Amino acid sequence: LSDKLDGVLSRFRQRGVLTEPMIREGLREVRRVLLEADVNFKVTRDFLGRVQERALGESVVKSVSPGQQIVKIVHDELAALLGEGRPTIKWVSSPPTILMVVGLQGSGKTTTSAKLARRFAAEGRTPMLAACDLQRPAAIEQLQTLGRQIDVPVHAGTFGGDPVATAKAAVDAARAQGCSVLIVDTAGRLQIDETLMDELRRVRDGVQPQEILFVADAMTGQEAVRIAEGFDQALDISGVVLTKMDGDARGGAALSIRGVTGKPIKFVGVGEGVDDLDSADPERMAGRILQMGDVVGLVERAQRTMDMAEQEKLQEKVLGKGRFTLEDFLTAMRQIQRMGPLDQLLKLIPGAKKLKIPGNIDPKRMKHVEAIILSMTPEERENPKIIKGSRRARIARGSGRPVSEINRLLKQFTEMQKFMKQMKGLGGLMGKGGGMP
Ligand code: GDP
Ligand code: MG
Repeated sequence: LSDKLDGVLSRFRQRGVLTEPMIREGLREVRRVLLEADVNFKVTRDFLGRVQERALGESVVKSVSPGQQIVKIVHDELAALLGEGRPTIKWVSSPPTILMVVGLQGSGKTTTSAKLARRFAAEGRTPMLAACDLQRPAAIEQLQTLGRQIDVPVHAGTFGGDPVATAKAAVDAARAQGCSVLIVDTAGRLQIDETLMDELRRVRDGVQPQEILFVADAMTGQEAVRIAEGFDQALDISGVVLTKMDGDARGGAALSIRGVTGKPIKFVGVGEGVDDLDSADPERMAGRILQMGDVVGLVERAQRTMDMAEQEKLQEKVLGKGRFTLEDFLTAMRQIQRMGPLDQLLKLIPGAKKLKIPGNIDPKRMKHVEAIILSMTPEERENPKIIKGSRRARIARGSGRPVSEINRLLKQFTEMQKFMKQMKGLGGLMGKGGGMP
């Protein structure tokens, strides 16, 4: 979706003066892209209706850069469609706050339950998990394993037991142990069926959760709408968690579900790991759909792993006016190593795919990189352009690495420098508030 929409919008951007027919034609293209991306028909129609109304307004056609204005309107309306502000959880004054996690089989309920517990624990709350998917023994074990991994207690029912009784017992256990939040993982099916909905309704009525989070797989196409509607009608969900946003699907499901149910997307799953959960920010999701790259998301994720001071320095280099030197390159490589799988982070940045940085940096290679950079003079580190033949040979001798490796490092550094410039460009634009390229 993003790439195509970006293509359409970039044509808008190029146009100097916009006429009404041009706007209409352009919006028809946006419409086609949205429909192709499995965005629900009605959602698309309503969306474009609002965009068109604003785009045909006088302020746009008479403005200095009408193309830019339209792109901004598309962005703003996308953000508005996705929700207002950052959605939050309704916390109760007398704990535990109860969250029920529902969705089809394989959508990511169990994983998301653990991710939520992890996040709440990091926020200083005391979570407990309840395993109420009692149809498969493996499901109970899966949550127990995750619970051990993140050090969160799991109240589990027995295979074939009654999920309602288990959920109620979990509430009592959470209260007794002074847990402030209980996350109830439930069973799913491959399709919506009445038996499942009936079971979920009984669990809901049994524990009266503050939140019912519907977990949806972002890779699901048109089906997403029907499934979300089904769950919402049966249970009156309070929000949506969109999982597998690390995959190729990038917006269709989010737009459709939000458009049809009116319920906010609260969290976004971006990987299989327990830390791979972001809060859903409509502005950011709109930006992502428009393929600006989720720089804010990247920074937020990095934040959890990075040392603050070091990070600020790096950020200043990346987004501020500072120059990017080999010293920074070394720091960045070390940071990146701590951030985890790099390819996943890079997916968030447009154009980064072209960078041939390996997904995981081999620690041994890191040592070599370090040795090479440390064998350079401060002047060379500041200004690598001066590193020609004889300097390269000297550095090779000093670091005990072959010249070819020094060449490779310098090449990689140049690529990284270009990439940092690109990030800087994006950062500046995001900062200006419009968020438009
Ligand atoms: P459930 O049947 O709804 O409980 O689904 P699970 O939590 O067992 O997840 C099903 C599969 O999807 C597992 O292999 C998960 O690792 C994977 N999964 C869940 N969330 C994400 C996500 O955000 N990104 C990716 N890539 N995989 C996910
Ligand atoms: Mg499960």
